[in-house]
Amino acid sequence: MLSSILELLLVAASVTPALGFCGSHTHLQRRAEEGEAVPISTFGYIGDIGPHNWAALDAANSACATGTRQSPINMVEGQFQIVAGTDVTLTIPDQTEGIEFENLGTTVEGVMEGSGATMVLNGEEYELMQFHFHHPSEHLDNGTSIAMEMHMVFQTAEEQLAVIGVYVDLDTGVASAAAPAAKRRHPQPDHSLWKKQAEAVSQMQITAAADNGAVTSTMLETLFQSVEEIATPGTKVTTQPLIMSELVETLKLGNFEAYSGSLTTPPCSEGVNWMVATQRVQISTASFERVRNVVKFNSRFTQNALGSPNVVSLSAGAAAVAEPVAAA
Ligand SMILES: [Zn+2]
Repeated sequence: MLSSILELLLVAASVTPALGFCGSHTHLQRRAEEGEAVPISTFGYIGDIGPHNWAALDAANSACATGTRQSPINMVEGQFQIVAGTDVTLTIPDQTEGIEFENLGTTVEGVMEGSGATMVLNGEEYELMQFHFHHPSEHLDNGTSIAMEMHMVFQTAEEQLAVIGVYVDLDTGVASAAAPAAKRRHPQPDHSLWKKQAEAVSQMQITAAADNGAVTSTMLETLFQSVEEIATPGTKVTTQPLIMSELVETLKLGNFEAYSGSLTTPPCSEGVNWMVATQRVQISTASFERVRNVVKFNSRFTQNALGSPNVVSLSAGAAAVAEPVAAA
């Protein structure tokens, strides 16, 4: 099945060389070489090139209109199985040199291929290829959309895909309140005091995370400081150093809601192991506005419950029935 998907993808690549999707770097375009152009996606989220019409854009995208295990879905009981965070071995080294951050036109993506980031799930080793963002969230958390969703795309040597979805919510100011207050009290702090404060904030974040509360992500705050530099599709920038361990620790404290679904972008290939984290992360409103202004709206509509008919095929059937009535 995977090889047939790959064949389809290769056909797609020959027809639309600029094709980009959730797994674009994963399947077709290995990490962009130094100086190589960033691929700009040919699909979109609005009008003729939007998700209702993805299947019509390319024969390779037929699963978008016919697949019965399509993502994203409404994450309600019965749709997923719980996998404990401690059962997933996630290793993401801190990126001391920064990473390449690209604007694909449909999302902004951090390139991680070759960074040494891995996940071991059910005895299978996956490599983290890239992570990117959707606004608003694509999965619904029991019917509710969240401000954003991060997708961390992993792949085995056999090209089996797994994606960790992380809801990104707005910082309510609770977890990070201590740091600015401390700054005001100590305009010229000594380093040992700062170290203690950093530990205290870190401990507070871990406590909040353990209570299933969201934690403010230093990694995302740092990453999104660069997002305005890639406001134009096709551009890229090297980020500041990224501390990845914080994200890993946060995810480990929660669970994953796991199900077998699809890519949420063309060609909507199925057989993707989805793991939606119960742990959320937070960003400041200012960071949210910066990234929102660049990615605009980039969320596929919620798909039907797993195993149910594809919503696009149902709509096509309804249109076919409605047409003679309208003509009569
Ligand atoms: Zn995605």
